[in-house]
Amino acid sequence: MSVKTRFAPSPTGYLHVGGARTALYCYLHAKKTSGDFVLRIEDTDRERSTDESVQAILDGMEWLGLSHDEGPYYQTKRFDRYAEVKEQLLAEGKAYPCFCSKERLDTLREEQMQNKQNIGYDGHCRNLTPAEQDLSQPHVIRFKNPLDGAVVFDDLIKGEISVSNSELDDLIIARTDGTPTYNFTVVVDDLDMQITHVIRGDDHVNNTPRQINMIEAIGGAQNKERPLFAHVPMILGDDGKRLSKRHGAVSVMQYRDDGYLPQALLNYLVRLGWSHGDQEIFSLQEMIDLFALEDVNRAPSAFNTDKLNWLNQQYMKSLPAAEVVNHLQWHLDQQNVNTSNGVAVELLIPEMAERVKTLKELASAIRYFYEDYQEFDPNAAKKHLRPVARQPLELAKEKLAGIADWSAETLHQIVSDTASELEVGMGKVGMPLRVAITGAGMSPDLGVTLEWIGKDAVLRRIDKALEFIAEREANS
Ligand code: GLU
Repeated sequence: MSVKTRFAPSPTGYLHVGGARTALYCYLHAKKTSGDFVLRIEDTDRERSTDESVQAILDGMEWLGLSHDEGPYYQTKRFDRYAEVKEQLLAEGKAYPCFCSKERLDTLREEQMQNKQNIGYDGHCRNLTPAEQDLSQPHVIRFKNPLDGAVVFDDLIKGEISVSNSELDDLIIARTDGTPTYNFTVVVDDLDMQITHVIRGDDHVNNTPRQINMIEAIGGAQNKERPLFAHVPMILGDDGKRLSKRHGAVSVMQYRDDGYLPQALLNYLVRLGWSHGDQEIFSLQEMIDLFALEDVNRAPSAFNTDKLNWLNQQYMKSLPAAEVVNHLQWHLDQQNVNTSNGVAVELLIPEMAERVKTLKELASAIRYFYEDYQEFDPNAAKKHLRPVARQPLELAKEKLAGIADWSAETLHQIVSDTASELEVGMGKVGMPLRVAITGAGMSPDLGVTLEWIGKDAVLRRIDKALEFIAEREANS
């Protein structure tokens, strides 16, 4: 049977990094064997599910490039099917109506707690005869969990897990209003959708034995195979606590907003809990080829923002510039940097990616190529726009104003000529000039920077630097 995995988020919030990593593992495991990846939206909790969350999940998956082969399926569109399976279980004597009141269940629970017994339903209505069942009275439907034996399964990450049936009670599969519950819909769907591998967060590991019993009861009757299970350990923040909003961004789209490339985030997420030797950088194809559930760590992994930043920079430097620009454009728009008149952004990427960690920083770092800076970086100006810089700047400006061939090479020559004419080192001309034209102390090669900023802006900005120096002289 060919592999089929599913990612089954509940749309009760954004797509968070834990979910995204689960989705990635599901995706990789399917693609590795040319299998299919299913997206299923588990929206049966009508109170907590929202359309915005559904959209946030779809947007997050799209941004990450984790495209599904089937779906998205919506559980709310499958209520008829759940009702059908419920009826079938009732008819086969594998489920039963339960009329116990909330008061009775609360008392039961208290007693169990006092006597230090397992908490759970005691099977009070399990053996009612049809005559004793008044279906006009409010009732839920419970699944008849086997009373004896144990559920044993071989988790692909955690190893063998065994749970005695005496620890499992009869789970509610349909509420008083008839709506199906989570553990039941998951089982029906995984069987109907012929899922071969259930890969999910290990917060679900306690549900699995119960689900397996239902799978046996429903699927066994249909001769369907039980899926294999892999429970992925959770992600911790860098303080060792469970990753949450306290640690900063947890929503995938927030990472986009903060300036990360989807390739970098995917690479980061794949390594968070899985490794292949000491390799750090993986193309998507390499991830597909090398990923194996068996190699996923059993212990939780801790988030490390420095590593994500490092990866992001590696990807900004190594991806084709045009692809980086595709993602950068969103940030340029957000920051109102209009690059339509001026040097092609592609040319700037290899030079500028060295100096920043995120696309957000990159968008702001390239602004001076397209518009005059508002003010000088105070430290750079303090250090380099001093009275001694006036003469070099004036002479450089005079020479720059006169040239026709505005190319990096000629511009470089001009800086060098200015320095020799004044009998000073290159830095005495170069640094003030750099601060004058960029507003700050760092930029790519000066000749190239001059070329890209363009003649008019260069001359105008040198004047601005000279004014700054004059003011400084006047105030000293
Ligand atoms: N809908 C569940 C959740 O978002 C996941 C269910 C599953 O993967 O089996 O936690």
